[in-house]
Amino acid sequence: MTELSAEWLLPVDGPPIEGGLVRYEGGVIVEVTEGRAERHFPEAAIVPGFVNAHSHLEYAVYAGFGDGMAFGPWIRTHVDRKDRLDAAQMLAIARCGVVDSLRAGITTTADYSFSGAAAAAAGLLGLRAIVYLEVFSPDPDDARRQFEDKRRLVDETELVRIGVSPHAPYTCSLDTYRWCLSLGIPVGTHLAESPNEDEWLEHGSGPLRQIAPVLVPPSGKRSVPTLEPVLGPDLLCAHCVELTDEDVALLAARSVPVAHCPRSNALLGCGIAPLAPLRAAGVAVGLGTDSPASTPSFDMFEEMRAAIFLARARERSAGALLPAEALRMATLDAARALRLDDRVGTLTPGKRADLTVVSLAGSPYHPVEDPAAAVVFGGSPERVLQTIVDGQTRYANEDNEKWREVRSTASAARQRMLAPRQ
Ligand SMILES: [Zn+2]
Repeated sequence: MTELSAEWLLPVDGPPIEGGLVRYEGGVIVEVTEGRAERHFPEAAIVPGFVNAHSHLEYAVYAGFGDGMAFGPWIRTHVDRKDRLDAAQMLAIARCGVVDSLRAGITTTADYSFSGAAAAAAGLLGLRAIVYLEVFSPDPDDARRQFEDKRRLVDETELVRIGVSPHAPYTCSLDTYRWCLSLGIPVGTHLAESPNEDEWLEHGSGPLRQIAPVLVPPSGKRSVPTLEPVLGPDLLCAHCVELTDEDVALLAARSVPVAHCPRSNALLGCGIAPLAPLRAAGVAVGLGTDSPASTPSFDMFEEMRAAIFLARARERSAGALLPAEALRMATLDAARALRLDDRVGTLTPGKRADLTVVSLAGSPYHPVEDPAAAVVFGGSPERVLQTIVDGQTRYANEDNEKWREVRSTASAARQRMLAPRQ
């Protein structure tokens, strides 16, 4: 039996507990109560480990590639540079992504994986994950071959489940989506991320024309109506920025889970997703950091803050998203979107012992008035003291030294992508 206590404990499915204690054994939470353990964290909060509803661990060192470009040329820059890597380098980068995630208090990741390296990296370093192997093709037979080639390279474990990701409605046909959904494993896609997507699908125009040979033919409809026949509770949809009121109603009516990535959408100039309308319509919206290919980091604290800033700015209302709601989107709501809420997302007896200890010492929010505000506005990866997955401490801020090798091999892979073409 292990016991941890802190000045505050935020179960998320109940009110914050001042002087809270959590007990766990065999990877399972046994009790959440008031009390003081031998291992006590003063001026700190224990929260459920963050659940990242959208990431690409394999892009951990792609920061800044194509910054300032439109969505179409930005994608082409990434495809071109990714081609220069071998399998060992992709694994090195994915391991760096796992370390950065654990360091940011993330204990579960929904990862869309190009090479399968994300599954190996998560397994090696103890991050809980659903790894959705990406397929890109209008032809379902081709998509099946892509999936099978990647699937045989990866192992499913207690912590790492394998899913499939038909990339987006402009690279995959409805038949490809139907084939993916027929597998009975988790399925995730990108949807309505950018206006360029609608331009191609509706009119065959816009910057995506530059990669026309690999795209599905225009459907004559926008992105969400194009995908309408396959939208349902089994299809996790990342981004969902370009939505009309009818699209929001459709996503709600079909119980489509959504991963909201406000920093990625802002930095790529894609826009601001209608978070408040989605939540008001009852859509399960989890928060996702996306990857350093678009955002600067796997930093869930920054993501929670960005979600609040942008929701409040968009709605012109300080009440549009409160810190406790943002924390819920980064834990329980994301777990719901991934259908893992029976296992993770809250500090509740019976759930897996996934938890994060955040120091509040010296933050402007300490002494604490609102503990959720203290964690969301005052937190940062530097303040993460411990990240525990399935009862195992997978990151402690005193062992940064341990990760030096992981970072240097990932940096070498980045160097190779930056080198001029021979
Ligand atoms: Zn993505």
